[in-house]
Amino acid sequence: MKTVADLHTHTSACPHGHCTRQELILRAKERGLWAVGISEHTQACPDGVPMAYFEKMNNWLTESYGVRVLRGVESDISDWRGKIFMQRRYMKNLDYVIASLHRNSLWAADRLTVTSTWCGIAEDPAVDIIGHCGRDPDRFDFETDTVIRAFRDGGKTVEFNESSLGKPAHDKKCYEICEACGKYGVPVMIGSDSHYARSVGASANCIRMIETVGLPEELVINADRDRLEKWLASVKERKSTLFD
Ligand SMILES: [Zn+2]
Ligand SMILES: [Zn+2]
Repeated sequence: MKTVADLHTHTSACPHGHCTRQELILRAKERGLWAVGISEHTQACPDGVPMAYFEKMNNWLTESYGVRVLRGVESDISDWRGKIFMQRRYMKNLDYVIASLHRNSLWAADRLTVTSTWCGIAEDPAVDIIGHCGRDPDRFDFETDTVIRAFRDGGKTVEFNESSLGKPAHDKKCYEICEACGKYGVPVMIGSDSHYARSVGASANCIRMIETVGLPEELVINADRDRLEKWLASVKERKSTLFD
């Protein structure tokens, strides 16, 4: 298995990113990716980009150096009631929305609270991708079956990313989530969470996990261009009337 696109990347538009958009796109091209999506943080995180950044995203080239460029956001969850930090009126400029928990937006909570937060996010029609929910299980643990079933019912896609794998506690939770995605037929996305041009498209740890767990490849949205194009079209269609 290999990936054809990376929808979770950061650039120097946010202070902890260390490459330009151009470097990122050129590296994606070198790695043979069909598409790259840029997904900066919102300002629920101290070094997110201002809302004005999203206001002008509709002016981006949709293709650059032969690579399809997708406009995303990693919208921090800013409230334990399951709210993301993103103004609805800018969402029409985006190809997709990732919702993630980060310790610099919300510090930690008990298992019941995090479970209910993810169930709230599952019901938000603005959210397309659940970002790295297996990361930091010491702070953000949740009832896996309950939450993954809620993601299925809410039509969400669960992301695994390279930066969340490699530590035993994180791996254990990610593998458990991956197994649950297989059990409930929930689509998944592999992302690098790259903050440097060199790591765009990184996917080795995620692919090893998916193959070890035996998750069917048909569930991996960005392992196939046609599948990803259909997914993007379905997101667009589903959200076409949401933000008018
Ligand atoms: Zn993140
Ligand atoms: Zn990220």
